[in-house]
Amino acid sequence: MSSRVSATINLAAISHNLNIIRSLAPESSVLAMVKADAYGHGANEVARVIESQVGGFGVATLDEAASLRSVGIVAPIVLLEGFNFAHELAVAKEHKLDLVIHNLVQLRELIEEGVEGISRVWVKLDTGMHRLGFSPSEWLEARPLISQIEQYIDIVVMTHLACADEIEHVQNRNQLSVFEQIVDGEPFAQSIANSAAILSRPDLHRNWVRPGIMLYGVSPFGSEQLIDDLCPVMTLKASVIALKSVSAGDWIGYGATYQCQSDRLIATVSLGYGDGYPRSAATGTPCYINGVMTELVGRVSMDMLTIDVTDVPGVKLGDQVELWGEHVPVEQVAACCDTIGYVLLTGLTNRVTFHYVR
Ligand SMILES: *Cc1c(COP(=O)(O)O)cnc(C)c1O
Repeated sequence: MSSRVSATINLAAISHNLNIIRSLAPESSVLAMVKADAYGHGANEVARVIESQVGGFGVATLDEAASLRSVGIVAPIVLLEGFNFAHELAVAKEHKLDLVIHNLVQLRELIEEGVEGISRVWVKLDTGMHRLGFSPSEWLEARPLISQIEQYIDIVVMTHLACADEIEHVQNRNQLSVFEQIVDGEPFAQSIANSAAILSRPDLHRNWVRPGIMLYGVSPFGSEQLIDDLCPVMTLKASVIALKSVSAGDWIGYGATYQCQSDRLIATVSLGYGDGYPRSAATGTPCYINGVMTELVGRVSMDMLTIDVTDVPGVKLGDQVELWGEHVPVEQVAACCDTIGYVLLTGLTNRVTFHYVR
């Protein structure tokens, strides 16, 4: 019996995508981004598969890090926003986490509390995104403080690009020149590249690359530029639970937003926005059933959606519909929802049953 909604996670695809990353950036260590439960794929399972082939993992929260440690992950884990709340530094030390340090408050507290138990600190520079990091003027204050700890721990200076997915954007040049001005002559390892920069800017690979979305087989550039070499890791499926023969002129679903132009066969499928399939998906959003592509019609409901199966061979109740994954690029579904693949992957709810295959 197949489940109502299933997400199949192809662990071999993760290894395949990691191999592509390593061949693109052979000189760099890989900090695999597994924040937000590995972009919705299951961080513990993903981390176990690639632990021996990466330099470490990036997570957003202490809970995410603690969960990885609890299943036996011993590789370095970097807390991407460092410690920001009471007691977090002590807990981070207990779990032997590496820290991003992005402001003077953190840096002073770290020095006061001591760096014992921490093996690496990632100093984040704000080169123009203005979210986290030391600005060039703050760096002048931070640098002498870093001198007090740099003989005890490994230091990586990092920055994050606001427009890495738009290769020609002037912001990239501006951020890079700020970065180079700060780090020029410094002895520290460097890290700049997310997935988009790994794919498009070999000059930015430096000592550490930080792939996220491409590890999961999805293009950081969206539907306009799919990456054929990558292998999608998640395939989301649901079942046909009703079939309706409708006539030309009939309307489908809530709000009667879609009118059939001719007689059609419509399948009702067992997932909706309560499972994380976005309500914003427009009529025409692609899906795949019985070996052919077809499309969503009408509005997505909480527990169901409707697709046009008029031209699909032999449809019957119980047939599986792929909403995204192996045959349907999540990048294309995202474009039809006016969002990005990252949002869809991280948005599945606990109604979805996960299956891990090798
Ligand atoms: C999430 C994240 C990445 C990965 O970005 P992708 O676009 O998913 O490759 C890289 N660096 C930092 C600091 C991040 O937070």
